[in-house]
Amino acid sequence: MRPLTYSRATDVDHALALAASSPASAFLAGGTTEVDLIRAGISLSEHLVDINDLPLADVADADDGGLRIGALARMSDVARTPGVVQRYPAIARALLLSASEQLRNMASLGGNLCQRTRCPYLRDGISACNKRDPGSGCAALDGFNRGHAVLGTSEHCIATHPSDVAVALVAFDAVVRILGPEGARSLPVDDFFLLPGDTPQREHPIGHGELLVAIDVPGTPIARGSVYLKLRDRQSYEFALVSVAAALSVQDGVVADVRLALGGVGTKPWRARRAEALLVGGPPDEASFRRAAAAELEDAVVREHNRFKVELAQRAVVRALTQNLEGRQP
Ligand code: SF4
Repeated sequence: MRPLTYSRATDVDHALALAASSPASAFLAGGTTEVDLIRAGISLSEHLVDINDLPLADVADADDGGLRIGALARMSDVARTPGVVQRYPAIARALLLSASEQLRNMASLGGNLCQRTRCPYLRDGISACNKRDPGSGCAALDGFNRGHAVLGTSEHCIATHPSDVAVALVAFDAVVRILGPEGARSLPVDDFFLLPGDTPQREHPIGHGELLVAIDVPGTPIARGSVYLKLRDRQSYEFALVSVAAALSVQDGVVADVRLALGGVGTKPWRARRAEALLVGGPPDEASFRRAAAAELEDAVVREHNRFKVELAQRAVVRALTQNLEGRQP
């Protein structure tokens, strides 16, 4: 048994003050991640600051045609919001393919972005794991690494980021809004996720007591036809082996604009910028889709059990772009 204290914040300033009062505090939203980690002895939080009374659950249209999604908006509510379904179908689809209905009803968007990796060696509490115990090593490098990353890895960690919706948000250049003791700031969502490098225990560039309050998705007309393809071992309640968020526009027979991001293969939600650059200005056909996908995976570093992801990711990119072109959601 480990003692935990609990406070319920009444507004944002109160939440920040409560978090600042203890170096071992953590914010509690839906509880679908933090409570698991506390039970497993991975989160060492001693004081939980419940933020569920804060007015951060709305999904509102923005003036530029985009969206402001409150950090406490539940995954299932965001997935059903007409502005999301109509203007960002890849976001809606990514949410609906995540977890289970029960978890989607509880889990918040902010919590989804802040969730920790599902690497079993982190969660078993005993294996060598540089994220849980910096300097202890990484049991996944020579372990059962079928679900692990091939892009953005380091010799210290090869864990994938588990979020689906983060992949779509990275594709559409979303921005996270943060409040903390030093005031307000914002970060492109792509920068909100850190590569493991030499410090895999540091997953986000935010300090203790900083609170993610909203996610802004800029107006992105190309996103109206976007798709989210998720490949996994079973069709529900399973993390992606590979996923793809894709949006494509074609003018005069060539690709005018494209957004492409991958899940399940990177140590962070992976914006496929190299592939995007190769696709723009070229023909929207299978051969160029395949070339772009191969270029994106060129730097993949594979381990004993995850080699298959390189080919699977390339096929998934081709399929997602093709379905986007044909106006079909996978
Ligand atoms: Fe830990 Fe990362 Fe290695 Fe998994 S892959 S055991 S999370 S260091």
